[in-house]
Amino acid sequence: MAQTIFHRIVSGELPCHRVYEDDHVLAFLDIFPLSRGHTLVIPKVHAETLDRLDEEHAAAIGRVLPRISRAVLDATGARAFNVLQNNGASAHQAVFWVHFHIIPRYDDGSGLVIGWPAGKLADPEGQELAARIAERL
Ligand code: AMP
Repeated sequence: MAQTIFHRIVSGELPCHRVYEDDHVLAFLDIFPLSRGHTLVIPKVHAETLDRLDEEHAAAIGRVLPRISRAVLDATGARAFNVLQNNGASAHQAVFWVHFHIIPRYDDGSGLVIGWPAGKLADPEGQELAARIAERL
């Protein structure tokens, strides 16, 4: 298994600007922030991508994401933010240890820049695709 920079942060070998920690979760400031207060929330166990994360750690992250988001907003004065979670190199993942970005958005435009080339979902594709996904859950 390839080591990532987050292996070294979770083990304590590398320092980070920690904002939150519990038995399952660590949150710290992103070292190359898209905006002031850009925070990363990670499980304390290694999983490359979200689909490989166990439910216990996923639930632990889900439980604290709103609280950490509120703290980031309160501390920075930002009123809007994005939560971003990249999986796979082609989806812009650079560190292969699951992480959620909390990225404040400011009136000066700093924050996450999003391309959103929306299509239109039509039937029967919608029905077929929903059924295809649902039967796997
Ligand atoms: P992603 O493109 O979703 O894999 O994002 C990885 C993030 O990790 C980037 O935003 C990096 O700036 C951030 N990052 C990389 N190394 C460190 C580090 N040592 N401390 C904090 N954040 C880091």
